[in-house]
Amino acid sequence: MTREKILIVDDSPTPLRALGEMLKHDYEVYTATEGREALRRARELRPDLVLLDVMMPGMDGYTICGILRNDPSTAEIPVLFITAKSESEDIVRGFEAGGLDYITKPFNPSELSARIQTHLELRRSRLALRTYALELERRNEELDRARESLEMMARIDPLTGLANRRYALERLNAEISRSSRHEEPFCLAMADIDDFKLFNDTHGHEGGDVVLKSVADMLVASVRREDMVARWGGEEFLLMFPRLSLDGAVKAAEKLRAAVESCSPEYGGKALRVTVTIGVAGYDHALDLDANISRADGAMYEGKRASKNRVTAAR
Ligand code: GH3
Ligand code: MG
Ligand code: MG
Repeated sequence: MTREKILIVDDSPTPLRALGEMLKHDYEVYTATEGREALRRARELRPDLVLLDVMMPGMDGYTICGILRNDPSTAEIPVLFITAKSESEDIVRGFEAGGLDYITKPFNPSELSARIQTHLELRRSRLALRTYALELERRNEELDRARESLEMMARIDPLTGLANRRYALERLNAEISRSSRHEEPFCLAMADIDDFKLFNDTHGHEGGDVVLKSVADMLVASVRREDMVARWGGEEFLLMFPRLSLDGAVKAAEKLRAAVESCSPEYGGKALRVTVTIGVAGYDHALDLDANISRADGAMYEGKRASKNRVTAAR
């Protein structure tokens, strides 16, 4: 371990020398004999402890201590006053100036040494505690970030950035409670890309992915903020329209259908024509969620059979 540094500040050479002699066996000892020098050395050396005389010509010990306390570079250094002044008001002033201890001359060397050791030990504990607290804070932040990204990964489909099936179910269940509590309607819709297999067959999986991403973006851009667009399966998107009646949801779905038809994603230098078939169902609280999703799905398949690129409502 490197030896700890102690700065002794005293205007009279005799006690200074005696103190220095006593402490130099265990510490690196530095000295200063007046205020400005003391401040300069404290800033340069960053000692682990300062022994400070109170009565000195020019700047007195209280003033020096106050300046050290107010300078962030020296504020943490423990200051012990060593002085012939022993009135209790002097002692109080010393503590008020930010000194940690007050030792009166003539001092008992082993008592002084014990006090120095105690204050150095306290300082080491403070520093260790702070390092530990900082490390703890850093690790907590790291954990928070990791947890956030895990939560994100558990909810978001990585290709499209949409809610995945699991997160969609969470939000659907929340909407089911909300809608029955407020006695407001809401609707579900299933949108399926028409002839999607063809994109994969013609342009490869990568081309298929570009189409999926474009359709997802188009759907998100064309719904209201409170609506939900989720990736339900390969090329199927589940939508939720809170507070909409079936008529309103059919209009919203028609807007989506038209938006996808006009989006023409580009792949391999070509604009692709993409369409979706959408089935819409008003949520029926007499049925469970699966049955409601099946109704939207059924309406979508009805649309596929009739001719694709259309919106069908479950009646
Ligand atoms: P329809 O008009 O009746 O919906 O026909 P379709 O070709 O769209 O439907 P089908 O269910 O026959 O094919 C869906 C295809 O989607 C099959 C599957 O390989 C592909 N697919 C599923 N997930 C992904 C994906 O993440 N990326 C890509 N590129 N293709 C996918
Ligand atoms: Mg399809
Ligand atoms: Mg499908």
